[in-house]
Amino acid sequence: MTALSPHLKQASPVVVDHGLGSELYDVDGRRYLDFTAGIGVVSTGHCHPRVVAAAQEQVGSLIHGQYTTVMHRPLLELTERLASVLPPHLNSLFFANSGSEAVEAALRLARQATGRPNVVVFHGGFHGRTVATATMTTSGTRFSAGFSPLMSGVHVAPFPTAYRYGWSQEEATAFALRELDYLFATVTAPGETAAFIVEPVLGEGGYVPGNTEFFAGLRERADRHGILLVMDEIQTGFGRTGRYFGHQHFDVEPDVITMAKGIASGFPLSGIAAREELMAQAWPGSQGGTYGANAVSCAAAVATLQVIAEEGLVDNAAERGAQLLQGARAAATADAGHSPIGDVRGLGLMVGSEFTTADGAPDPDRAKAALTAAAEKGLLLLTCGAHMNVVRMIPPLVVSATEVDEALAIWSEVLAEL
Ligand code: PMP
Repeated sequence: MTALSPHLKQASPVVVDHGLGSELYDVDGRRYLDFTAGIGVVSTGHCHPRVVAAAQEQVGSLIHGQYTTVMHRPLLELTERLASVLPPHLNSLFFANSGSEAVEAALRLARQATGRPNVVVFHGGFHGRTVATATMTTSGTRFSAGFSPLMSGVHVAPFPTAYRYGWSQEEATAFALRELDYLFATVTAPGETAAFIVEPVLGEGGYVPGNTEFFAGLRERADRHGILLVMDEIQTGFGRTGRYFGHQHFDVEPDVITMAKGIASGFPLSGIAAREELMAQAWPGSQGGTYGANAVSCAAAVATLQVIAEEGLVDNAAERGAQLLQGARAAATADAGHSPIGDVRGLGLMVGSEFTTADGAPDPDRAKAALTAAAEKGLLLLTCGAHMNVVRMIPPLVVSATEVDEALAIWSEVLAEL
């Protein structure tokens, strides 16, 4: 008798049978609104007919065309098609399977291209679960505890998480940049620093958007010291924030972006994009893998990009995101008494509600209770944040105004009953 490892826990008791758009149906036929989107993966919704058709067609002609052995058509098509959505200077691509692998690819590239050993990550960031990316992850010790030694050469600077510090955004940003300079003076000399690796919006760290001044500060220091600016767009990419890429809200030019999740509507695919001259500095043989750029995943990604463009899903994410943020804020302040939610924030279709006690301490118990109650009422959500006290809403980009209203009605009910 075998069973799944007990360390693999589900946020809900749902055993899913099938999905359609923003809905999941369990094995008994019960409908759920899926405001998790497989952790921000099913960008075009569950089983979008065009993604299904592209994948089905590809399965019948070629499943695996190993990309260091042969080239295949879906990979060529995807590479060409990405030019229409990527910033024009990021014109060279490498593909892998998972987000963690993409971040590792960016790390290898940064070290090889600069000849420098260290990277600076930003407090609250999540970059993956492999040992290297778990070392770079500071959104919770649960992701890196118990299997040390971790990787050396990773240093942590503050992210401007204004709410946590209890400061204005300006104060938090000035502090974060000042501390980064102090890190340079005391911990990692700029000449030994290969890259900044940073999310445009902290994802697993609690749905905290960065800001223009902060990223301008990173860009300026990167230029001054020959450091590469790597933006981890794995959760924020492909329309999630209401722009194609999260960094586009902040008027900053990254040297490298990492991507995964929303790129292929659920098929495993990830990658990095950089300038060709930079990418050419990766050492031959240092990037690759058996399954990278799987033909079915690439065909699904091409269809995903077509659907995102033709159905206007980036604009939909911006509009539905504004509706969701406004509704979540209204729900959090509906009662005259103490609200269990201290802050509601987000960007596009990434909306987080941070649960706090009356004295402002993190309140993971109520967050968990709200999540469970929402699932019982047919709305699937996830938590995030260092203390797992932020409930996040991250529906597919195809979500409709009616579905957002339905989710908000359930959410208001949950909060009223809490
Ligand atoms: N970076 C970010 C910003 C992520 O959100 C995630 C996944 N939550 C990862 C990296 C790691 O991706 P994966 O789980 O596919 O390895």
